[in-house]
Amino acid sequence: MMITVDPERCYGSGDCVYRAPHVFTTVDGFGAVREGREAADDDPKVREAAEGCPSQAISIAGRD
Ligand code: SF4
Repeated sequence: MMITVDPERCYGSGDCVYRAPHVFTTVDGFGAVREGREAADDDPKVREAAEGCPSQAISIAGRD
């Protein structure tokens, strides 16, 4: 399972970075998954970040 940020949806609120800075960062003002952290989907902070993304831009593949 992989964590991804849809650049078409993300508007750079930064909420994901606030909630899980060890996994998310910003690139050019938009949310992004840190290199090497794409498979950290079992981290509750990642799920919290995905659920809290105001534009629903964060996906965890294989998740309902
Ligand atoms: S919380 Fe969502 S909209 Fe905000 S920076 Fe992260 S991915 Fe983008």
